[in-house]
Amino acid sequence: MEENFTNVETAWEGCLKYVRQRVNNLSYKTWFEPIKPVALREESLILKVPSQFFHDWLDEHYSTVISESVRSVLGENSKIEYIISEDDLSEPEQQFYRPPKSTDPSHIVEKASHKLHGSTAFESNLNPRYTFENFIKGDSNQFARAAAYAVANNPAGTAFNPLVIYGGVGLGKTHLVQAIGNFARQSRKAERVLYISSERFTVDFVEAIQKDRANEFSNFYRSMDILIVDDIQFFAGKEKTQDNFFHTFNALHQSGKQIVLSSDRPPKELKDVDERLISRFTWGLTVDIQPPDLETRIAILRKKSEDDGISIPEDVIEYIAANVTSNIRELEGSLISILAKASLSNREITVELAKEVIKSLAVSRRSTITVEDIQRAVAEVFDVSEEQMRGKTRKQEVVIARQTAMYLIKEMTKLPLKAIGSYFGGRDHSTVIYACQVIDDLISKSPHFKELYDRARKKIDMIGV
Ligand code: ADP
Ligand code: MG
Repeated sequence: MEENFTNVETAWEGCLKYVRQRVNNLSYKTWFEPIKPVALREESLILKVPSQFFHDWLDEHYSTVISESVRSVLGENSKIEYIISEDDLSEPEQQFYRPPKSTDPSHIVEKASHKLHGSTAFESNLNPRYTFENFIKGDSNQFARAAAYAVANNPAGTAFNPLVIYGGVGLGKTHLVQAIGNFARQSRKAERVLYISSERFTVDFVEAIQKDRANEFSNFYRSMDILIVDDIQFFAGKEKTQDNFFHTFNALHQSGKQIVLSSDRPPKELKDVDERLISRFTWGLTVDIQPPDLETRIAILRKKSEDDGISIPEDVIEYIAANVTSNIRELEGSLISILAKASLSNREITVELAKEVIKSLAVSRRSTITVEDIQRAVAEVFDVSEEQMRGKTRKQEVVIARQTAMYLIKEMTKLPLKAIGSYFGGRDHSTVIYACQVIDDLISKSPHFKELYDRARKKIDMIGV
């Protein structure tokens, strides 16, 4: 049989016939059509693939079917060798505009995604509010800021690729990673910049798969000069998404594009994230942001009040800075609440007023309160069992208790909606949103409910006092 295939083209066609019966059409088009047979040397079929990434993907997913196909056509001892021709894929931007004479299918895929997302017109998701200018420097964030600035000035041109910024909530991670994107675009260091949260990336990926658009999805992300992914800890447990992100990461890194990531903890401590992904995350530079010290907190408060054109007495600023120590979001929140209270009650901004406001805010912020504490307290007050509340029953009194617990968890913890749902037998975030609407409504309309609600709330407030 082997004798029939003296010609490399014919041999490869024979292999493709074999492959086509074993992989689906989309995979075939994506991963096999771009392969070019180059030569037949002794027992080796030499194939050209467009990139290292492409090669790795083939190797990981299709090595068996490829070697079987080659053996079936060229005999038991035949082998495959790959040569990698980077010039085909390394410049996705130019590829969009390559003259149409090319019939390279990978080119067609690129063009499809170009049509879908546009090569210039896509939403970068950057908030112009987040800049380096209005990011206050302090000991706690100095190093992270310097690294971010270096990256913004020279995307993919430093050893900081990826740049990973990690730290607790409200410390300025989102601000800083977006400042990179804003600066790089304004200074024309990079054109295609995309900011996305890991949660959004996941949702989009799942949707792309459902709509059979995984390729377009991948191509879109791979066409970025800077890809910024916020809160990568939420990749935890999402294996398919991680797999896709792994390959996106490799493709970008390989073609000299910048990747910026944020996380609530150091990459090595990420849970339920694939080791090989974690190892990629540590390729570049990992920097942390710490809670701001007193001087930085004072500087931030001054700047914010200046920006808002409001003059706040120095002793009030110092009082807030001394008493709201956890993070910058709460610092901002306290300032806003104090200003709101002053203007609503027509009072002057004094230390006394600040004290009142901060005290009332502090109650709702105690970080010692856990989801379980809240579920237990609500279950007691509403006289249902915790199991029922977390379970599936639709009995009216259980449903109300469940919704109340969701509402209180949302109010009293900083958990994302999805996470809250997961504490109630894996309900999704829309269920939580709905619950919050119902409870809001009940609180304002039903005095009886309001009484129960207040009792639950007080019970929780007593915890850890
Ligand atoms: P994270 O993403 O770490 O949770 P954010 O970036 O959302 O935190 O920051 C919370 C808020 O605090 C934002 O409004 C941000 O602009 C502000 N902020 C954080 N760090 C600074 C800083 N160093 N200077 C000025 N504002 C800051
Ligand atoms: Mg953030």
